[in-house]
Amino acid sequence: VKESGKNNCLLYSDTWENSSLERLKLQHDLKQALSKGEFVLHYQPQYNLCNGNMVGVEALIRWQHPERGLVPPNQFIPLAEESGMIVQIGDWVLQEACRQNKAWQDEGLTSIPVSVNLSIRQFLQQNLTDKVSQILKDTGLQAKYLDLEITESMTMDIERASRCLLELTSLGVNISMDDFGTGYSSFNYLKSLPIGRLKIDRSFVRDIEQEAGDAAIVAAIISMGHNLNLQVIAEGVENEAQMQFLKKHHCDEIQGYFWSPPVRGQQIAEMLQGVWKH
Ligand code: C2E
Ligand code: CA
Ligand code: CA
Ligand code: CA
Repeated sequence: VKESGKNNCLLYSDTWENSSLERLKLQHDLKQALSKGEFVLHYQPQYNLCNGNMVGVEALIRWQHPERGLVPPNQFIPLAEESGMIVQIGDWVLQEACRQNKAWQDEGLTSIPVSVNLSIRQFLQQNLTDKVSQILKDTGLQAKYLDLEITESMTMDIERASRCLLELTSLGVNISMDDFGTGYSSFNYLKSLPIGRLKIDRSFVRDIEQEAGDAAIVAAIISMGHNLNLQVIAEGVENEAQMQFLKKHHCDEIQGYFWSPPVRGQQIAEMLQGVWKH
Protein backbone atom coordinates (compact mmCIF):
# COMPACT_ATOMS: atom_id res chain seq x y z
CA VAL A 1 0.00 0.00 0.00
CA LYS A 2 1.36 3.33 -1.01
CA GLU A 3 1.83 5.97 1.62
CA SER A 4 0.91 9.33 0.23
CA GLY A 5 0.82 12.35 2.42
CA LYS A 6 0.10 12.73 6.06
CA ASN A 7 -3.51 11.93 6.66
CA ASN A 8 -4.41 9.40 4.04
CA CYS A 9 -2.58 6.40 2.81
CA LEU A 10 -4.29 5.53 -0.41
CA LEU A 11 -3.95 7.37 -3.62
CA TYR A 12 -6.50 6.95 -6.35
CA SER A 13 -4.07 7.06 -9.21
CA ASP A 14 -4.90 8.45 -12.61
CA THR A 15 -5.09 4.96 -13.86
CA TRP A 16 -7.01 2.55 -11.72
CA GLU A 17 -4.72 -0.28 -12.65
CA ASN A 18 -3.18 -0.30 -9.23
CA SER A 19 -2.70 -2.96 -6.63
CA SER A 20 -5.72 -5.11 -5.96
CA LEU A 21 -5.79 -3.83 -2.40
CA GLU A 22 -6.05 -0.29 -3.61
CA ARG A 23 -8.84 -1.26 -5.96
CA LEU A 24 -10.76 -2.99 -3.21
CA LYS A 25 -10.47 0.08 -1.05
CA LEU A 26 -11.65 2.32 -3.86
CA GLN A 27 -14.62 0.02 -4.50
CA HIS A 28 -15.54 0.13 -0.86
CA ASP A 29 -15.15 3.91 -0.77
CA LEU A 30 -17.33 4.31 -3.86
CA LYS A 31 -20.18 2.47 -2.17
CA GLN A 32 -19.84 4.66 0.87
CA ALA A 33 -19.60 7.79 -1.24
CA LEU A 34 -22.96 7.03 -2.78
CA SER A 35 -24.68 6.46 0.55
CA LYS A 36 -22.99 9.51 2.11
CA GLY A 37 -23.98 11.72 -0.79
CA GLU A 38 -20.45 12.65 -1.81
CA PHE A 39 -21.04 12.70 -5.55
CA VAL A 40 -21.85 15.98 -7.24
CA LEU A 41 -22.71 16.90 -10.78
CA HIS A 42 -21.13 19.76 -12.62
CA TYR A 43 -22.65 20.99 -15.83
CA GLN A 44 -20.92 22.15 -18.97
CA PRO A 45 -22.88 24.47 -21.25
CA GLN A 46 -23.45 23.70 -24.91
CA TYR A 47 -23.92 26.67 -27.21
CA ASN A 48 -25.62 27.25 -30.51
CA LEU A 49 -22.92 28.49 -32.88
CA CYS A 50 -25.18 30.84 -34.83
CA ASN A 51 -26.61 32.88 -31.99
CA GLY A 52 -24.41 32.05 -28.99
CA ASN A 53 -27.35 30.87 -26.90
CA MET A 54 -26.90 28.16 -24.32
CA VAL A 55 -28.90 25.28 -25.73
CA GLY A 56 -28.02 22.47 -23.35
CA VAL A 57 -25.72 21.28 -20.58
CA GLU A 58 -23.81 18.05 -20.07
CA ALA A 59 -23.88 16.59 -16.57
CA LEU A 60 -20.41 15.45 -15.47
CA ILE A 61 -19.89 13.64 -12.21
CA ARG A 62 -17.28 14.53 -9.56
CA TRP A 63 -16.58 13.01 -6.20
CA GLN A 64 -16.44 15.50 -3.37
CA HIS A 65 -14.02 13.48 -1.29
CA PRO A 66 -13.70 14.46 2.38
CA GLU A 67 -9.90 14.40 2.24
CA ARG A 68 -8.95 14.60 -1.39
CA GLY A 69 -11.24 17.33 -2.55
CA LEU A 70 -12.91 17.13 -5.92
CA VAL A 71 -11.95 13.85 -7.61
CA PRO A 72 -12.43 13.80 -11.42
CA PRO A 73 -14.39 10.97 -13.04
CA ASN A 74 -11.45 9.33 -14.78
CA GLN A 75 -10.14 8.41 -11.32
CA PHE A 76 -13.18 6.37 -10.32
CA ILE A 77 -15.57 5.77 -13.24
CA PRO A 78 -13.42 3.05 -14.85
CA LEU A 79 -13.36 1.02 -11.64
CA ALA A 80 -17.04 1.68 -11.06
CA GLU A 81 -17.66 0.30 -14.53
CA GLU A 82 -15.53 -2.74 -13.89
CA SER A 83 -17.14 -3.54 -10.56
CA GLY A 84 -20.70 -2.87 -11.65
CA MET A 85 -21.11 0.03 -9.20
CA ILE A 86 -21.64 2.24 -12.24
CA VAL A 87 -25.24 1.08 -12.39
CA GLN A 88 -26.09 2.53 -8.98
CA ILE A 89 -23.95 5.60 -9.56
CA GLY A 90 -25.55 6.02 -12.97
CA ASP A 91 -29.04 5.81 -11.45
CA TRP A 92 -28.08 8.60 -9.10
CA VAL A 93 -26.68 10.70 -11.95
CA LEU A 94 -29.87 10.33 -13.98
CA GLN A 95 -32.05 11.19 -11.03
CA GLU A 96 -29.95 14.17 -9.97
CA ALA A 97 -29.56 15.60 -13.48
CA CYS A 98 -33.32 15.42 -14.06
CA ARG A 99 -34.06 16.89 -10.65
CA GLN A 100 -31.66 19.79 -11.24
CA ASN A 101 -33.01 20.49 -14.70
CA LYS A 102 -36.57 20.60 -13.40
CA ALA A 103 -35.45 22.88 -10.56
CA TRP A 104 -33.97 25.34 -13.10
CA GLN A 105 -37.25 25.29 -14.98
CA ASP A 106 -39.17 25.86 -11.78
CA GLU A 107 -37.04 28.97 -11.17
CA GLY A 108 -38.47 30.27 -14.42
CA LEU A 109 -35.28 29.82 -16.43
CA THR A 110 -35.21 28.93 -20.11
CA SER A 111 -35.80 25.21 -20.55
CA ILE A 112 -32.85 23.36 -22.04
CA PRO A 113 -32.02 19.67 -22.22
CA VAL A 114 -29.53 18.07 -19.85
CA SER A 115 -27.21 15.43 -21.32
CA VAL A 116 -26.34 12.41 -19.22
CA ASN A 117 -23.52 9.98 -20.01
CA LEU A 118 -24.54 6.34 -20.07
CA SER A 119 -22.02 3.58 -19.57
CA ILE A 120 -22.39 0.32 -21.40
CA ARG A 121 -23.51 -1.57 -18.29
CA GLN A 122 -26.33 0.87 -17.78
CA PHE A 123 -27.25 0.73 -21.41
CA LEU A 124 -27.51 -3.06 -21.32
CA GLN A 125 -29.82 -3.16 -18.29
CA GLN A 126 -33.10 -4.79 -19.18
CA ASN A 127 -35.09 -2.19 -17.31
CA LEU A 128 -33.29 0.98 -18.39
CA THR A 129 -36.32 2.40 -20.19
CA ASP A 130 -38.53 1.76 -17.18
CA LYS A 131 -35.98 3.42 -14.93
CA VAL A 132 -35.69 6.48 -17.13
CA SER A 133 -39.43 6.68 -17.42
CA GLN A 134 -39.83 6.43 -13.64
CA ILE A 135 -37.20 9.10 -13.02
CA LEU A 136 -38.91 11.46 -15.45
CA LYS A 137 -42.17 10.84 -13.67
CA ASP A 138 -40.67 11.30 -10.20
CA THR A 139 -38.87 14.51 -11.08
CA GLY A 140 -41.59 15.90 -13.31
CA LEU A 141 -39.12 16.59 -16.12
CA GLN A 142 -40.47 16.31 -19.65
CA ALA A 143 -38.64 13.68 -21.70
CA LYS A 144 -37.58 16.16 -24.36
CA TYR A 145 -35.37 17.85 -21.78
CA LEU A 146 -33.29 14.73 -21.29
CA ASP A 147 -30.53 13.71 -23.67
CA LEU A 148 -28.65 10.44 -23.25
CA GLU A 149 -25.08 10.17 -24.47
CA ILE A 150 -23.99 6.77 -25.70
CA THR A 151 -20.77 5.72 -27.42
CA GLU A 152 -20.16 3.79 -30.58
CA SER A 153 -19.00 0.71 -28.68
CA MET A 154 -22.49 0.32 -27.26
CA THR A 155 -23.87 -0.22 -30.75
CA MET A 156 -21.61 -3.15 -31.65
CA ASP A 157 -24.60 -5.45 -31.27
CA ILE A 158 -26.67 -3.42 -33.69
CA GLU A 159 -29.91 -5.34 -33.25
CA ARG A 160 -29.87 -5.02 -29.52
CA ALA A 161 -28.78 -1.40 -29.56
CA SER A 162 -31.49 -0.64 -32.03
CA ARG A 163 -34.13 -2.17 -29.80
CA CYS A 164 -32.89 -0.37 -26.67
CA LEU A 165 -32.65 2.96 -28.42
CA LEU A 166 -36.11 2.67 -29.97
CA GLU A 167 -37.54 1.97 -26.54
CA LEU A 168 -35.75 4.96 -25.04
CA THR A 169 -36.64 7.35 -27.83
CA SER A 170 -40.26 6.26 -27.66
CA LEU A 171 -40.28 7.99 -24.27
CA GLY A 172 -39.31 11.19 -26.03
CA VAL A 173 -35.71 11.49 -24.87
CA ASN A 174 -32.97 12.36 -27.35
CA ILE A 175 -29.89 10.25 -28.02
CA SER A 176 -26.46 11.68 -28.74
CA MET A 177 -23.50 9.70 -30.02
CA ASP A 178 -20.56 10.75 -27.84
CA ASP A 179 -16.88 10.72 -28.81
CA PHE A 180 -17.90 10.27 -32.40
CA GLY A 181 -15.13 9.25 -34.76
CA THR A 182 -13.10 7.29 -32.22
CA GLY A 183 -15.06 4.05 -32.46
CA TYR A 184 -16.01 1.61 -35.11
CA SER A 185 -19.51 2.50 -36.11
CA SER A 186 -20.03 2.60 -39.81
CA PHE A 187 -22.12 5.29 -41.38
CA ASN A 188 -24.63 2.59 -42.12
CA TYR A 189 -25.18 2.11 -38.37
CA LEU A 190 -25.90 5.75 -37.90
CA LYS A 191 -28.53 5.67 -40.55
CA SER A 192 -30.37 2.81 -38.88
CA LEU A 193 -30.26 4.02 -35.27
CA PRO A 194 -32.63 6.60 -33.76
CA ILE A 195 -29.89 9.06 -32.91
CA GLY A 196 -30.48 12.79 -32.88
CA ARG A 197 -27.02 14.22 -32.48
CA LEU A 198 -23.36 13.51 -33.08
CA LYS A 199 -20.69 14.77 -30.71
CA ILE A 200 -17.40 15.14 -32.54
CA ASP A 201 -14.68 13.82 -30.26
CA ARG A 202 -12.33 16.43 -28.92
CA SER A 203 -9.27 14.61 -30.23
CA PHE A 204 -10.25 15.77 -33.74
CA VAL A 205 -11.08 19.29 -32.63
CA ARG A 206 -7.80 19.73 -30.77
CA ASP A 207 -5.57 19.80 -33.85
CA ILE A 208 -8.01 21.29 -36.34
CA GLU A 209 -5.58 24.09 -37.12
CA GLN A 210 -2.38 22.04 -37.33
CA GLU A 211 -3.56 18.81 -38.86
CA ALA A 212 -5.15 18.96 -42.28
CA GLY A 213 -6.37 15.41 -41.75
CA ASP A 214 -8.25 16.27 -38.59
CA ALA A 215 -9.77 19.33 -40.21
CA ALA A 216 -10.96 17.16 -43.09
CA ILE A 217 -12.46 14.62 -40.70
CA VAL A 218 -14.31 17.28 -38.74
CA ALA A 219 -15.68 18.87 -41.90
CA ALA A 220 -16.73 15.44 -43.19
CA ILE A 221 -18.48 14.49 -39.94
CA ILE A 222 -20.43 17.74 -39.97
CA SER A 223 -21.64 17.36 -43.52
CA MET A 224 -22.38 13.68 -43.15
CA GLY A 225 -24.29 14.37 -39.93
CA HIS A 226 -26.34 17.02 -41.64
CA ASN A 227 -27.08 14.77 -44.58
CA LEU A 228 -28.43 12.24 -42.11
CA ASN A 229 -30.51 14.96 -40.46
CA LEU A 230 -28.49 14.89 -37.27
CA GLN A 231 -27.45 17.79 -35.11
CA VAL A 232 -23.70 18.07 -34.79
CA ILE A 233 -21.88 19.34 -31.72
CA ALA A 234 -18.11 19.66 -31.34
CA GLU A 235 -16.58 19.04 -27.93
CA GLY A 236 -13.30 20.27 -26.51
CA VAL A 237 -13.39 23.65 -28.24
CA GLU A 238 -10.64 25.63 -26.54
CA ASN A 239 -9.93 28.61 -28.74
CA GLU A 240 -11.26 31.14 -31.21
CA ALA A 241 -9.63 29.53 -34.25
CA GLN A 242 -11.30 26.19 -33.56
CA MET A 243 -14.62 27.91 -33.08
CA GLN A 244 -14.27 29.85 -36.32
CA PHE A 245 -13.44 26.69 -38.23
CA LEU A 246 -16.51 24.97 -36.83
CA LYS A 247 -18.68 27.96 -37.61
CA LYS A 248 -17.41 28.10 -41.16
CA HIS A 249 -18.31 24.45 -41.59
CA HIS A 250 -21.78 24.97 -40.15
CA CYS A 251 -21.36 22.90 -37.02
CA ASP A 252 -24.55 23.40 -35.00
CA GLU A 253 -23.23 23.56 -31.45
CA ILE A 254 -20.04 23.71 -29.44
CA GLN A 255 -18.98 22.69 -25.99
CA GLY A 256 -15.58 23.45 -24.52
CA TYR A 257 -13.37 25.48 -22.23
CA PHE A 258 -13.35 28.34 -24.74
CA TRP A 259 -16.87 29.30 -23.71
CA SER A 260 -17.17 27.52 -20.38
CA PRO A 261 -15.73 24.66 -18.33
CA PRO A 262 -18.13 22.45 -16.36
CA VAL A 263 -19.57 24.52 -13.49
CA ARG A 264 -21.88 24.06 -10.54
CA GLY A 265 -25.63 24.07 -11.00
CA GLN A 266 -26.01 27.48 -9.39
CA GLN A 267 -23.70 29.01 -11.96
CA ILE A 268 -25.74 27.53 -14.79
CA ALA A 269 -28.78 29.22 -13.29
CA GLU A 270 -26.91 32.55 -13.36
CA MET A 271 -25.84 31.97 -16.94
CA LEU A 272 -29.42 31.22 -17.94
CA GLN A 273 -30.54 34.41 -16.24
CA GLY A 274 -28.36 36.23 -18.72
CA VAL A 275 -25.77 37.36 -16.24
CA TRP A 276 -23.31 35.69 -18.58
CA LYS A 277 -23.58 36.09 -22.33
CA HIS A 278 -21.65 35.24 -25.43
P1 C2E B 1 -16.85 12.94 -21.90
O1 C2E B 1 -18.23 12.41 -21.83
O2 C2E B 1 -16.20 12.93 -23.23
O3 C2E B 1 -16.92 14.39 -21.27
C1 C2E B 1 -16.18 15.50 -21.74
C2 C2E B 1 -14.95 15.71 -20.91
O4 C2E B 1 -14.15 16.70 -21.54
C3 C2E B 1 -15.23 16.24 -19.50
O5 C2E B 1 -14.22 15.74 -18.65
C4 C2E B 1 -15.04 17.73 -19.70
O6 C2E B 1 -14.72 18.42 -18.51
C5 C2E B 1 -13.88 17.74 -20.64
N1 C2E B 1 -13.80 18.98 -21.42
C6 C2E B 1 -14.78 19.83 -21.71
N2 C2E B 1 -14.35 20.85 -22.47
C7 C2E B 1 -13.05 20.63 -22.67
C8 C2E B 1 -12.04 21.35 -23.40
O7 C2E B 1 -12.26 22.39 -24.00
N3 C2E B 1 -10.79 20.80 -23.41
C9 C2E B 1 -10.50 19.63 -22.75
N4 C2E B 1 -9.27 19.19 -22.81
N5 C2E B 1 -11.44 18.94 -22.06
C10 C2E B 1 -12.69 19.43 -22.03
P2 C2E B 1 -14.60 15.09 -17.25
O8 C2E B 1 -15.71 15.84 -16.59
O9 C2E B 1 -13.32 14.93 -16.50
O10 C2E B 1 -15.18 13.69 -17.65
C11 C2E B 1 -14.35 12.71 -18.24
C12 C2E B 1 -15.16 11.52 -18.69
O11 C2E B 1 -15.73 10.84 -17.57
C13 C2E B 1 -16.35 11.88 -19.58
O12 C2E B 1 -15.89 12.11 -20.89
C14 C2E B 1 -17.18 10.64 -19.44
O13 C2E B 1 -16.70 9.63 -20.28
C15 C2E B 1 -16.92 10.24 -17.99
N6 C2E B 1 -18.04 10.70 -17.16
C16 C2E B 1 -18.24 11.89 -16.58
N7 C2E B 1 -19.40 11.92 -15.89
C17 C2E B 1 -19.97 10.71 -16.05
C18 C2E B 1 -21.19 10.10 -15.62
O14 C2E B 1 -22.03 10.71 -14.93
N8 C2E B 1 -21.42 8.81 -16.00
C19 C2E B 1 -20.55 8.12 -16.78
N9 C2E B 1 -20.84 6.85 -17.13
N10 C2E B 1 -19.40 8.67 -17.22
C20 C2E B 1 -19.11 9.94 -16.87
CA1 CA C 1 -20.11 12.85 -22.81
CA1 CA D 1 -17.22 13.09 -25.24
CA1 CA E 1 -14.38 11.09 -23.96
